[in-house]
Amino acid sequence: MTFRSETSAIPSIVLNDGNVIPQLGFGVFLVPDDEAFPVVTAALEAGYRSIDTAAIYGNEEGTGRAIRESGLPRDEVYVTSKVWNSEQGFDSTLRAFDASMARLGLDYLDLYLVHWPVPAADRYVDTFRALQALKTQGRVRSIGVSNFTAEHLSRVIAETGEIPAVNQIELHPRLAQRELREFHAGHAIATEAWGPLGQGTLLDDRTIASIAAAVDRTPAQVIIRWHLQLGNIVIPKSVTPSRIAENFDVFGFELSRDQMAAINALDTGTRVGDDPNTFSQGLDV
Ligand code: NAD
Repeated sequence: MTFRSETSAIPSIVLNDGNVIPQLGFGVFLVPDDEAFPVVTAALEAGYRSIDTAAIYGNEEGTGRAIRESGLPRDEVYVTSKVWNSEQGFDSTLRAFDASMARLGLDYLDLYLVHWPVPAADRYVDTFRALQALKTQGRVRSIGVSNFTAEHLSRVIAETGEIPAVNQIELHPRLAQRELREFHAGHAIATEAWGPLGQGTLLDDRTIASIAAAVDRTPAQVIIRWHLQLGNIVIPKSVTPSRIAENFDVFGFELSRDQMAAINALDTGTRVGDDPNTFSQGLDV
């Protein structure tokens, strides 16, 4: 297997705990377990060094095997997973973590996230306390949350005394999350963008297409570049090797201030995913 050597081109983000995460990573939502091995292998070959999975994706085994069998040193691949809603609570989160690690076949995680807040269940603070315990034990390097609003973040910070390192949220040009990004910046929480391409829905947008033509790049590359220039951590997903490589080839050009502004103007506050205040799949509330 051959690996591109220019991975040093990937910028890093320093988290509030001092650990460092690659700014561009690879997501594996909706990749079946038996496809995760070739797909994650293709991503590592293309140069990605950060992989984002989750227990609910059902592909931790294939993902972990691709990472282990890549031959890359463990500390050169950044691995994220997430505790699913049905496992929320202190003890159940500890058990869910063990199960994820057994499937991944790894000794530690770089980042473990509370997947959704599920505020009606009121267990996310205890769930985050379990993540704190795992960090203290050295089984996880950094801990964070996903789909949390400023209100959920404030409660976690007030009740645990710890500021999550990362909040992974739906974020793309039609949902730019300006206010939440400002809240994050004020608390040294890193913003990680899921659905960064609007799950594909933004790729035929006319503004994006015209900017892509102007810079001689593809629409996906323009959107990923917009994320990087905003300072987001970004984890696009594709199962197609040519697109996996295309989405990584985003360090050789820059968007101008006017092009950034034109993309910023696409923000209509429109979600492609679920509402963090009400989403409760997997948990009876
Ligand atoms: P995305 O915005 O990355 O879009 C992925 C889709 O865009 C692909 O399935 C493909 O159809 C299309 N695509 C990708 N690259 C392309 C290219 N170069 N040309 C043409 N089409 C292309 O959506 P996503 O997968 O939902 O988000 C990325 C990652 O974020 C996920 O894989 C997952 O790891 C994470 N995620 C997290 C949550 C959460 O609740 N925390 C939710 C959804 C996704």
